[in-house]
Parts: sequence; structure tokens; C-alpha cells
Amino acid sequence: MATLSGTVFLFNPSTLEYDLGQHHPFKSIRPKAVKHLLECYGVTLQVQDFTAATLEDILTVHSRGYVQRVIKASGGEPVSDALEYGIGTSDTPIFPKMHEATSSVVGGTLQAARLIASGQASRVLSLAGGLHHAQLSSGGGFCVYNDLSVAIRALTAQGLRVAYLDVDAHHGDGVQWLHYQENNVLTISLHETGRYLFPGTGSPFELGRGEGLGYSLNVPLEPYTQDHSYLEALERILEPALKWFCPDVLVVQGGADSHEFDPLADLGLTVQGYANVYRYIVQLAEQYTNGKILATGGGGYATLHAVPRVWAQLYAALEGIQLPDTIPAAWLEFWQPKSQEILPTTMTDTPQEIPRLEQIERENAKTVTQLLEAWGKR
Ligand SMILES: [Zn+2]
Repeated sequence: MATLSGTVFLFNPSTLEYDLGQHHPFKSIRPKAVKHLLECYGVTLQVQDFTAATLEDILTVHSRGYVQRVIKASGGEPVSDALEYGIGTSDTPIFPKMHEATSSVVGGTLQAARLIASGQASRVLSLAGGLHHAQLSSGGGFCVYNDLSVAIRALTAQGLRVAYLDVDAHHGDGVQWLHYQENNVLTISLHETGRYLFPGTGSPFELGRGEGLGYSLNVPLEPYTQDHSYLEALERILEPALKWFCPDVLVVQGGADSHEFDPLADLGLTVQGYANVYRYIVQLAEQYTNGKILATGGGGYATLHAVPRVWAQLYAALEGIQLPDTIPAAWLEFWQPKSQEILPTTMTDTPQEIPRLEQIERENAKTVTQLLEAWGKR
């Protein structure tokens, strides 16, 4: 079987139907805007289509009772206990065909897992995916089904060891709890501290349970953390963790809401900071998983202002290319009329002035030390 040498860019317009509403911050248009940006840069993408995940696939992760309720709600039938299952809230509203649309999102990330497991590709990007908050019997945090965990289960079913890294501003709670007692899945999440931010979990003391003890790592970062401190925290955790765990595949939830422009979180990464983070991750995948890396999107609510640039850098890191600093005029001409703000014309951002920066960096360094000590004593 021939192996595809470049990065596979999974894309199917049906994921646009993952539409939580006109006024909801989650916009399913994002992968399309990223694809267009890369095309305007003259990048030749290896685009591949995919089909929706089946009910059987979804049930590898979610309970039948939950899925039955999503299907019912999806067809417009009333579900009296929807709130107990985390759907029908303002965060995760019921919307027409929500089962079908989410199954399509899951299908992309699952296809990525299958391409890697079968040896057909080493690097695959599923930008519509990254719904990391969905749990066994509940949705939440804009997520209906957990595409990441469905993909992880497909990989572990083939006997593969999976390291999962989550750089979304919010704790990757769904993925963590779903694999909390497993020792063939290592979950690592760097996120803004849950002191004030959804979902509130993700402390350094959530280390896993039973056989899974030591296979769950969390780095809660201070609000306004910037590039340098973020990358330092990542470097201190990721390499020792991968060295210890010996994964076959690295799954990355590449959430773009750690960007300084994001309206829903308070971390302070710039686009160039994100590019360095993604490049470091890909470099470690080369070293520890023979280059096998499955990356998804995730959060990111500065829809046109930051997300397309951030995820274009994710693709560039996977592909090992540098994108020019100037945003192509053709892209701006197309997307500027769709934005209420003036869109940036360069990849490089100016970091915000943060008066307490040193204190923030000290706190973050302390948190990493605390995690490494707790992990060492497990
Ligand atoms: Zn998020």
C-alpha cells in the first residue's frame, strides 16, 4: 500500500451543518476559511473527502441512552430530560440534524485515525474535529459527540498506544475522563486555569485512576500567559511524557482559542507563538511517533481575526513549510466583507502589554514543577 507522503487535509462541506445558531460563537465555517487561506498562499493541498461516522462508531465512546436522545432531538422530537444529558442549553443547543452533522465531524477524525492505523498516511488534519468536551453520557461546551475519543478508540483497537495533547484554552475534560482509567492512552492538556473558566477541571492532581494513574497530565496556566511561558511549560512536560510513554501516534487537539484575540478565554498566544508551539509538537512527533500525528481543530472564536491564521500555521508545521508573513490580498478581499472588524494583514501579531508578566511566568513555572513532582510520586 502506498503511503501518502504529505499532510492529508480532510474536508467535507457537510460539517458546515454543525451549526449551533447564528448568534453562537462556534462557527463551522472555520475549516473553509483556513483551506481558502492556504490555497491563496499557493499551497497545493492533498484534500480528501470522508463519510459520516456510523452509529456503531459513535457507540464506541457514548452511551446508547445519550445517543438515542441526540437522534430524537435531531429529528425535532421533544426530549424531556435533555438537560440531564447536557444538550438543549445555551452552550450546546439542540439544532436540526445535530446527530447527522456531529456524526460527519466524527467521521473526519475517525478517517484520520484509519489512514494512520492502516499506514496510508502519517500526518492527517481534521479541522472540523476537536469536540473535546463531550463525555460518555453528555454533551457540553459546544460539543455533541467526542470525535477525538472515537478516533483514539479506533487506534487503540488496533493495539496502538496513543498520546493525546490538547492546546485548546479550555481543559480537554471529555477526552481525559473518557480515558481516565486507561494505560494505553496518555492525555496531556495545557489550558487556562479552571479557577474562573469552563469547565473548571484540569488541575495538576488529576493524574488518572487505577491502571490509568499517571496517564493524565494537566498544566493549568495563568490568564494572560504569553508565548514564551507557554512554550516553556510545554517543553518541560511533553518530551519527558512522550519519552516515558512510548506512543505509536500523537493526537493533537489544536484549539485556536489560546490566541490573545479570543473573546472566550484569556491566554495570550500570538500567531507566531502558536506556530512555534505547533512546530515543536511536530518535531517531537518525528522523534517519538515516527512522525505519526493526527491533528484536529477545536475552540477558536476570533473566527476570522485569528483562527484561519492559527490553523494555517498548524498545517504549515505538519507540512514543514513556512508561510509568507503577508496575508494574501485575495483572501482578505473575500473574507473582509464578512467580518465586522478589520482583519490583520500579517501573520505576525503584536503581543499585548501585560504588567504582571513576570509574576505570571513564575506562577506557571511553579505549576509545572508541582505537576512533575505529583507525577513523580504517583
Ligand atoms: Zn476551548
